[in-house]
Amino acid sequence: MKITAVRTGILRTPLKTPFKTAQRTAGEMVDIVVLLEASDGTVGWGSAPPTAKVTGDTEGGVECAVREYLGPLLEGRDPEDLEACLDILESGMVRNTSAKAALDIALHDLWARIIGQPAWRLFGGAGGPIRTDVTVSVNPPEEMARDALRAVDDGFDTIKIKVGVGAEIDFERIKAIRDAVGRAPKLRIDANQGWKPGEAVRTLNRMADAGFGIELAEQPVKSGNIDGLAFVTAHSPIPVAADESCWSPLDAMELIRRKAADMINIKLMKCGGVRGARQIISVAQASGIEVMMGSMLECKISAAAAAHLSSSFGCVTRIDLDGPALCSADLVEGGPEFKGPDIILGSGPGFGVTGVPGLKLS
Ligand SMILES: [Mg+2]
Repeated sequence: MKITAVRTGILRTPLKTPFKTAQRTAGEMVDIVVLLEASDGTVGWGSAPPTAKVTGDTEGGVECAVREYLGPLLEGRDPEDLEACLDILESGMVRNTSAKAALDIALHDLWARIIGQPAWRLFGGAGGPIRTDVTVSVNPPEEMARDALRAVDDGFDTIKIKVGVGAEIDFERIKAIRDAVGRAPKLRIDANQGWKPGEAVRTLNRMADAGFGIELAEQPVKSGNIDGLAFVTAHSPIPVAADESCWSPLDAMELIRRKAADMINIKLMKCGGVRGARQIISVAQASGIEVMMGSMLECKISAAAAAHLSSSFGCVTRIDLDGPALCSADLVEGGPEFKGPDIILGSGPGFGVTGVPGLKLS
């Protein structure tokens, strides 16, 4: 069998409210959708959001990387020889992890569909349901408290709170949210690199002393400041997760060796897709650390791949796949069912996505 065509299209999905972090504000969700076609008519779906502020990947850049560089390398290749196709993708160009992730996801989807099995089964999982947290954007404390309360009303029992915009007001943000939602919901915070190391240690200790019950703190300091991250991890009473500091299995090994984080947040868009994620999972399994499966602001196609992985591996103990929950419309057909906090995988082949009605692919 051969891969006969690589097509792309741009999917724009409206959000319920603007998505705001310490790094950026987004008014809509944008994904470059990739469709691989094989000579027997089987197709594979993949997608990637261009998150320039995090990965450096732009809409035009992802599309160009797929259409001009990586896609042509896959045309004519045997999709059943999955590992060989993934090797070609990895060596096809440096960086461009989002474009690689879109194609890697489409390759895994195509491979699983040719075999006729859901991806979770091929990963060795049982396909059980998983639960995601939901993100509250960084805003004035009262607005965040209202958003958190709405999330609890929607059935979420874990809330991820964006902070990192002024340590003093960050404390007030968490106080307002905890006061509003009560003791039951789990709260995790994400500073998106917004604090200095000393400031992070002081703020996290203050939050712990105030009894806010924070489950974990994600990426308190700049991504490249591994010494600073290690300093925060050593002095924080709250477990620290590395997100922007961990792009690859080698990064994960380095962070673990330097005791720079208590856990790793995996995102397919950072590590170039399913294979990179599985390699980080292997590092975590071997090291005995837990991982979070995270996501960018991204659509159900790539979130489906992350959901299948999350369900299959026991070391994935925290799940942050809330992109579909933040949208006011579901434009993707098939795939896992995103019902509030619950993600139900289904047993269709591949990652389950069957189409994107109305999307123009070329
Ligand atoms: Mg993060």
